[in-house]
Amino acid sequence: MSVSPGAKALPLPTVGILGGGQLGRMIATAAAEMGFCSHIFCQRGDEPATQVATTTTIAPWDDHSALLAFAQACDVVTLEFENIPLATLRFLEEHAVVAPGSAVLNIAQHRGREKRACANAGIETAAFIVVDSPQALAHAVATFGHEVVIKTTRFGYDGKGQVRVREGDAFDALNVWETLLGERASLSGSQPGDPPEHVDPGDGPVIVEQCVPFSCEISVIAARSTSGAVAVFPPALNHHEEGILRTSTVPAGIHPQLEEKAIEIGRTLVAAFDVVGLLAVELFVVGDANSPTATLLVNEVAPRPHNSGHWSQDGSATSQFTQLVRAVADLPLGCPLATSPTTMINLIGADIESLDSHWNTPNAAVHVYGKAQARPGRKMGHVNVRHLSPSQ
Ligand code: AMP
Repeated sequence: MSVSPGAKALPLPTVGILGGGQLGRMIATAAAEMGFCSHIFCQRGDEPATQVATTTTIAPWDDHSALLAFAQACDVVTLEFENIPLATLRFLEEHAVVAPGSAVLNIAQHRGREKRACANAGIETAAFIVVDSPQALAHAVATFGHEVVIKTTRFGYDGKGQVRVREGDAFDALNVWETLLGERASLSGSQPGDPPEHVDPGDGPVIVEQCVPFSCEISVIAARSTSGAVAVFPPALNHHEEGILRTSTVPAGIHPQLEEKAIEIGRTLVAAFDVVGLLAVELFVVGDANSPTATLLVNEVAPRPHNSGHWSQDGSATSQFTQLVRAVADLPLGCPLATSPTTMINLIGADIESLDSHWNTPNAAVHVYGKAQARPGRKMGHVNVRHLSPSQ
């Protein structure tokens, strides 16, 4: 099924978007440029996407009459964050085309399921043990020799919901367990409707990952359309501070064979997980990034546009947001290649108060999300700085 605007008489086809954050805002903007309407389904009227969407529904995730009306108003439904309750997605799937669907969300919502699914697809991750008690946590930490990152299996982001333990650190398993479960509860908000997820130890609430001695972090974003066409953006080199992405740079400056390996991992996983839409894959580079023998390990995946792909808005032949709309509307995918070396700089918290230097940089494209309050750690916007040569 293609839902191209050119293929349909007015009214224009509508892309439904679950979630109202900045990613939803940028999907809606890309959709509008392509001649689509957008319909946001979110929980608050002040969310960034509501400022640019054609239509907004504000309702809880378990409001079936609102979901039904939303499904009937949309030609295709996509999403901008992965923690949509599965029950919501399954309900929508009965009434609309939803891409990506609940099966891949079920994988991406749990770090343990995600890593097992990567292994099943033949792709390596950090060594890990999912645990379901403080005793099992203590045992897993001892197994890895006290160099570990302990994370909630669900809802963590931007370094939230994780604890790093280094050799020689005092480690109190019960304390870490209680801290992480508390963070998990506050990060999840109130999410009605999911079936009980903690059904076997492999689906437990905490994961212990061996600490990866990476030389750098990269990511790729793979797109796959309804008809199975795949296109992968070149890898970005990502720099994090305190668990939050600060910059992404393309080209990543790694060995060309590693670039190819990363692209191949994106290609493999997007097909193995049967994603229609985008799959962002964060990777650790272990060893010399300028050598073809370095190893790539998957850190995590996200079946949606990703912060590390924002460079593509100004530095690629096709932005990740345009590519998502093309993929879910079953249009031909755009060329994902970089058109200029580009660095994306996140504007976090108070960074948004000093935009002048960016406005004064002619080769910087400024993107502001329209959030009312700049809290510490909150993503407020980003800037894509393109390194243009005179011939460009
Ligand atoms: P995450 O929320 O899993 O993306 O983790 C946030 C950041 O923590 C990553 O980008 C890494 O810098 C670091 N990190 C996460 N897991 C590990 C690991 N197993 N080993 C080393 N560093 C990690």
